[in-house]
Amino acid sequence: MKKTIVIIGGGFAGINVALQLAKKDGFHVILVDRNNYNFFPPLLYQVATGFLEVSNISYPFRKLFQKYDNVNFRLGELQKIVPEANKVILTTGELSYDYLVIATGTESNYFGIENIKKYGTPMKTLNDATNMRNFLLLKMEEATIETDEIEKKKLTTIVIAGGGPTGVEIAGMLSEMRKNIFRKDYPELAGYKGAIYLVDGGPKVLAPMSEKAQKYTFDTLVKLGVNVKLNKQVKDYVNDTVIFADGETIQTKILIWAAGVTATVFEGIPATSYGRGKRLLVDEFNKVAGTTNIFAIGDTCFQTTDKNFPNGHPQVAQVAIQQGKNLAKNFLRTERNESLVPFVYTDKGSMAIIGTTKAVADLPKPELHFTGFIAWFMWLFIHLVSLINYRNQLRTLYNWVAAFLTKDQSLRMIIRPASKHTEDAKTPTVLVPDAK
Ligand SMILES: Cc1cc2nc3c(=O)[nH]c(=O)nc-3n(C[C@H](O)[C@H](O)[C@H](O)COP(=O)(O)OP(=O)(O)OC[C@H]3O[C@@H](n4cnc5c(N)ncnc54)[C@H](O)[C@@H]3O)c2cc1C
Repeated sequence: MKKTIVIIGGGFAGINVALQLAKKDGFHVILVDRNNYNFFPPLLYQVATGFLEVSNISYPFRKLFQKYDNVNFRLGELQKIVPEANKVILTTGELSYDYLVIATGTESNYFGIENIKKYGTPMKTLNDATNMRNFLLLKMEEATIETDEIEKKKLTTIVIAGGGPTGVEIAGMLSEMRKNIFRKDYPELAGYKGAIYLVDGGPKVLAPMSEKAQKYTFDTLVKLGVNVKLNKQVKDYVNDTVIFADGETIQTKILIWAAGVTATVFEGIPATSYGRGKRLLVDEFNKVAGTTNIFAIGDTCFQTTDKNFPNGHPQVAQVAIQQGKNLAKNFLRTERNESLVPFVYTDKGSMAIIGTTKAVADLPKPELHFTGFIAWFMWLFIHLVSLINYRNQLRTLYNWVAAFLTKDQSLRMIIRPASKHTEDAKTPTVLVPDAK
């Protein structure tokens, strides 16, 4: 009898379980995702700024699984788990399982600030990235016809909240676009410099990285003309005004939110199985506390059994990939009645890009820190080879070479999906309303 493994979430973690078990006798794998594609979050910001196409960093699950008879895809969103019946309830029906793998990652955390959820621009999914691209381009178009000076300033001021890699990467990219592209694309705005702010509640940018990387990043952003404001906690976003905890304010119509993530709580799992950040508590084999055949991997789980990471692993792609592979191998070992292997994370280092030829990279063993051109080249290479297949790698490489040679790109189209009942091509769609 084949064992049915249902995987919820086809990100780095889930896809690696599915691919490791593909073509393996004894398993039927069903991968469930709310989207019909896998995507590569580290390059979302390049889609959001019009430097890469959506299809460069995404790939449909059904095409990916075409050649595997024992792997199926189901479009749907997990709603509830019924552990006593070994069943999951999806928005698109029910599935029974022998083993359940939860690999649902995280979502944007607005820390309970409703106005930011409503009026801020998040940066977590491919939908977020395309929304952000449309929104930025629409606001620039609005700026070209705005006659009120105060409103025009708000339209050309961008606040990015969150000084982690995503915030740094967006700030760097936008400041280079301001220098190389905006003045050519928007001659109506000649004389307007606009302003880009990167704000963080903590005292450093790229907090988990080395001091050398932090200093280089801070100095480089400042040189690029980004206003970096640290120890600035965003408290609210009202009437186009970002309000900080210390009372300071910045007027803007564009607040990009890259300030935090949270996991998701699912009905059916005991409340005691959730830990910090709503992450599922798992043992050394990634089994969820208080369950017998439910596993959690990647960003959504919290594991403290790894002796080098007693406070849990960082929420990064390599942890998700390695946990996915280890879990798949343990399923195979279970079938062969072999003992299971506990998860131990091999840290391969961390990196962030700030702009053309400007990046930082920290390697753990031997401990080495790179900045500038070498780190930039390493970043490009690692991100390129990490894309899901040759097709996406070649297309991304082509777009990067074109952008490098011309300091520009030609993907700044405002694409407005409209239902056939509401379509009105003459009216720009306001994707995120102004903060009220
Ligand atoms: C903008 C950005 C940049 C990043 N840059 C880097 C980087 O440079 N380096 C790095 O190491 N890490 C980076 N990360 C973090 C990295 O992307 C995550 O650590 C990694 O994606 C975690 O993998 P995962 O499989 O756990 O979750 P994800 O990759 O988030 O996958 C979760 C999957 O679950 C699906 N899903 C969620 N909820 C449900 C549901 N209820 N039902 C069905 N499906 C569901 C989602 O559609 C998604 O496909 C970045 C993240 C972001 C957002």
